Amino acid sequence: MTIDTIILIPFLLIDTTLLNYLQKELYKTFEIPVIIEKEINLPKLGYSEKRRQYEGHYFLEELKKLGYKDKIVLGVCDVDLYVWGFNFIFGLASPREKVAVISLTRLKEEFYNKPKRESIFFIRSLKEATHEIGHLFYLEHCKDKKCVMFFSNSLLDTDRKGPNFCPSCLKKLKERLPKSK
Ligand SMILES: [Zn+2]
Ligand SMILES: [Zn+2]
Repeated sequence: MTIDTIILIPFLLIDTTLLNYLQKELYKTFEIPVIIEKEINLPKLGYSEKRRQYEGHYFLEELKKLGYKDKIVLGVCDVDLYVWGFNFIFGLASPREKVAVISLTRLKEEFYNKPKRESIFFIRSLKEATHEIGHLFYLEHCKDKKCVMFFSNSLLDTDRKGPNFCPSCLKKLKERLPKSK
């Protein structure tokens, strides 16, 4: 694998402060350049009026259309996502195609009618972004509840886990990242 860059693609307008934070923190974790690209539109298809949610795979399709090769492409959206069999998802990844998406909607305290808390929203976003990028490096879900690769079924899971990989996941990741000089 010769992945050497992470590309962040906002769907519509996403808070620049958050994107800059993700760029800086993801670079620390993965040690490869992180580029923020221009925003793109939401998929034309995939919205369910009944659920008031988008089906996540349509976002992966939009990201694939951008045609990046040998890059990690992470979409960031602020609409609620689902896939078949789940009420909602925080994110979705296609490791073979190197595209993933995270949804910010349910990471905000306001979604649960609580006062806005930017710091907790930012760290949750980082955990979900790191998790999905981990999948793109073929990491699977981890049993360690503190590991960022632990599967988040709820916000409790996201808040309990750290933004970092456990030693075992980190070892696998390091083997798959470009060799540092
Ligand atoms: Zn996962
Ligand atoms: Zn782990």
